[in-house]
Amino acid sequence: MFKCRNQSCEAQWEQADVVIKNEGQGLLFRCPMCGARNYVERFDADDGSVVYEQIDGRPSLGPMAE
Ligand SMILES: [Zn+2]
Repeated sequence: MFKCRNQSCEAQWEQADVVIKNEGQGLLFRCPMCGARNYVERFDADDGSVVYEQIDGRPSLGPMAE
């Protein structure tokens, strides 16, 4: 379960409700309700399935500022 990090939204979504993609600063989904960017991290489980976990803020991929 994901939760929109926009504090005036905080909508909750199942992974199936959102589209996870990489816009160049790491994996994220846009909240279907408010459009806020929510970053996630990808984990590959031992059984081959892919799991996404929401992370706070953004991945530290570089010095790029928003
Ligand atoms: Zn939202």
